[in-house]
Amino acid sequence: MNLSTPVQFIKGIGPKTAQRFSRLGVETAADLLSFYPRDYVDYSQPYSVASAPFDHTCVIRAEVYSKQGETLVKGGKRMVKVLAGDNSATLELVWFNNPYTAEKLQIGQEYLFYGKAGGSFQKRQMIAPVVHPLTGAPPITPIYPQTEGLNSTFIGRCVARVLEEMEQPLPEPLPADMLTRYRLPQKDAAIRAIHFPANLEQALSARRRLIFEELLVLQLGLLLLRSRDKHTTAPVMKPIDLTPFFENLPFSPTSAQQRACNEILQDFTKPIPMNRLLQGDVGSGKTLVAAAAIYAAFQNGLQSVLMAPTEILATQHASTLQKMLEPFGVQTALLTGGMRVVQKRETLAAIASGQANLVVGTHAVLSDGVEFSNLAVAITDEQHRFGVRQRQILAQKGKTPHLLVMSATPIPRTLALLLYGELDISVLDELPPGRTPVKTFSITSKKRGDMFGFLEQQIAQGRQVYLVCPLIEEKENTSSQLKSVKRYLEEIVQPLLPNRRIGLMHGKLKPKEKEAVMQEFKEGLLDVLVSTTVIEVGVDVPNATVMVIENAERYGLSALHQLRGRVGRGGGESWCILVSDHTGENVRERLRFLCHTTDGFAIARYDLEHRGPGDFFGKRQHGLPALKLADLMTDTRALKAAQQDALALLHDDPRLDNLPVLANEVQQLFEQNTAMN
Ligand code: ADP
Ligand code: MG
Repeated sequence: MNLSTPVQFIKGIGPKTAQRFSRLGVETAADLLSFYPRDYVDYSQPYSVASAPFDHTCVIRAEVYSKQGETLVKGGKRMVKVLAGDNSATLELVWFNNPYTAEKLQIGQEYLFYGKAGGSFQKRQMIAPVVHPLTGAPPITPIYPQTEGLNSTFIGRCVARVLEEMEQPLPEPLPADMLTRYRLPQKDAAIRAIHFPANLEQALSARRRLIFEELLVLQLGLLLLRSRDKHTTAPVMKPIDLTPFFENLPFSPTSAQQRACNEILQDFTKPIPMNRLLQGDVGSGKTLVAAAAIYAAFQNGLQSVLMAPTEILATQHASTLQKMLEPFGVQTALLTGGMRVVQKRETLAAIASGQANLVVGTHAVLSDGVEFSNLAVAITDEQHRFGVRQRQILAQKGKTPHLLVMSATPIPRTLALLLYGELDISVLDELPPGRTPVKTFSITSKKRGDMFGFLEQQIAQGRQVYLVCPLIEEKENTSSQLKSVKRYLEEIVQPLLPNRRIGLMHGKLKPKEKEAVMQEFKEGLLDVLVSTTVIEVGVDVPNATVMVIENAERYGLSALHQLRGRVGRGGGESWCILVSDHTGENVRERLRFLCHTTDGFAIARYDLEHRGPGDFFGKRQHGLPALKLADLMTDTRALKAAQQDALALLHDDPRLDNLPVLANEVQQLFEQNTAMN
């Protein structure tokens, strides 16, 4: 067996099991070896029944006293109970639809039971524990993230088999002197130890080594991507006076917008490709800055492209930008995946001939068929939605364009520098005048009736409202998501707003259908838009004044803040209502924080510190490849060290010719992780 052996050739894994592994992203022996345990059980230190921590997964040592026969319980499940204990307390063990484990237990014998210790002080309980005899239990056992049909014990057995049958030790990617310097174990030893450590120190040291390797590979990858920029030149533009552009706007630009525009125009006059991040909270007016950049390129006779993460957003940008730029003669082309063949062919021809001065699109603009005539500026909106690779493909279109990435999700500056190196940052730290902050409330579903009364009032005044409906568990598929959106619409919204025009937006609609719904909402033909989070980014309907978010506890604060940013765009009073029945103190605290804070940066910081669901780094919103072990927020020391080492390695060996194993890992990391969303 070697690293590239497909998992179905491992003994004990049939085609069905291989499919389940595939769902976890595990295709080969190598994938299996880097499917790391999330925790360990230490059978050598069992708890007594009374001392076992409540609601924690742990090992308890207890004697079996008696067994109850099988009984049928609600839902048709068959339940078996076993009574066990020690001289500290008794422990009830319960299994559903599994009589086999209990059958094998012998009365009067002691065993080790591993599971979550619940119940009450009078009666401790464990549901479906793993059982080990007192002797022969491994000292430390790995616990793997489980999925349907693959339990942790089975995964562990497969990993053990691969490690046994591997013909050669795992190749070492890191140079020997680096291992000595940081006192890191060899790769082969580390992989063995992270799965089957002799003790917990060994597991930790293996982890430390693998985290370092992961960060080094990440840094090398980023540096290699960037080093290509250094040898290229971008179109040099003549300085452009933005006065006519600004004078044509219905409002005057904020000073933050003017500053950002000037910084960009400065960069355009240099032959070094611009690599600039435009950071600004929702509603700060990033689109205008993009338009100014496009204007400057156009006045130099050059093309621009703007890439947005969704069709809705691309369509909206195309029309906004067209309005701002058409008076100057700019021809805009919209390019999306859902276009008809003929239409697409014409658009591609217009882009290739230079007849289209501005191309706005989804990631369809990245495809091979898109050839530009003289591309000079490439812009991505909501950059965190795109992978580093996708941005790089865009940067390589045409003759190395200047790159502008726009984002409402702030990254702490120190981290941004570590991740992107010499990326320049412009910040829009000022909202356009006349905005009143969105009033934010958090309510429970008991008040939903009252809330709909309020919505009715708003609609009666000619306003429009968004209802973002329950997010469902991630593992549920889009069709069950659809079902729950529809149920929400039919059972809650329609009865409570009987005479109102209600639109429905969800991920299963075809691009054309989404666009049609959005268009109707924009034109005021709909009073209410019930939606999943597809409206999250960038959508601009100034007449909408209320944003309701159901199951608000399921979102990170930054995501909620983005959603809230959809209202309060028209200058009138506006509201955001967070509906949640969650009683957990930290959830309530989180929602309260949002109710009192409108500063996007403070909100992002809160997310970073508290690591709520959907938080910035947890969900790969940074657009970097997924990391298996390392954590960019907490492993900062290792990250800094890895960055220095990566620089040093590339300085001596720019293409890593002498470290082929490492070079291969770098390549793989970025290849596996191009697709996002
Ligand atoms: P975001 O930064 O979230 O992308 P947008 O570019 O969508 O923000 O702008 C939000 C709204 O603010 C738009 O309706 C836009 O027309 C308006 N806007 C932008 N700049 C100004 C300004 N200087 N004065 C008044 N309104 C502005
Ligand atoms: Mg925007």
